[in-house]
Amino acid sequence: MNVEEIYIQAGALLEGHFILSSGNHSSRYLQSAKVLENPATAEILAKALAKQIQASGIQIDTVCAPALGGVIAGYELARALGVRSIFAERKEGQMELRRGFEIAQDEHILICEDIITTGGSAMEVAKIITELGGKVVAFGALANRGFCRRVGSDITQKPNCKIPPNIPFFALEDFDFPMYEPTDCPLCKSGSTPIKPGSRS
Ligand code: ZN
Repeated sequence: MNVEEIYIQAGALLEGHFILSSGNHSSRYLQSAKVLENPATAEILAKALAKQIQASGIQIDTVCAPALGGVIAGYELARALGVRSIFAERKEGQMELRRGFEIAQDEHILICEDIITTGGSAMEVAKIITELGGKVVAFGALANRGFCRRVGSDITQKPNCKIPPNIPFFALEDFDFPMYEPTDCPLCKSGSTPIKPGSRS
């Protein structure tokens, strides 16, 4: 399966000159939600990710996703794995489990995102799961932005990856784009003006 091609076909992998949320510039941008707007595509991707996780032999009881971005990916992955799906959400800046979602003692939880960048939100969810008595046994994402090293990839983990090396991280593809400091961006130097893709309607 060519994951990059699926993202391109879905309009989820943009080419141009973008300002990333970090403030850096890049010639490529992942609009992850676009690849999930077609449920059939979401199902294909989640099944492929589930296959990797099942092959590892790690037992998963529940998938937990950080809202909002991770909810669809987490739900589809849970469906493909045949397990429970829950999500955490921010209230006044703090990640919380709300809506009656509960965690059993030692329940095996996989934290799922649509895309893992440094894994910051995923780790916030991991922290509350652990505090509630659950056991975080794996991380998952459809796309890996290339800061963390997923199972089966030989990319070098970057120092700002927040996912601990002792917990496996499963993803379908590395999207390790070049990034530039705004003052050192070759696209800016060529006279192009960057756009913030999130703000486009
Ligand atoms: Zn630039």
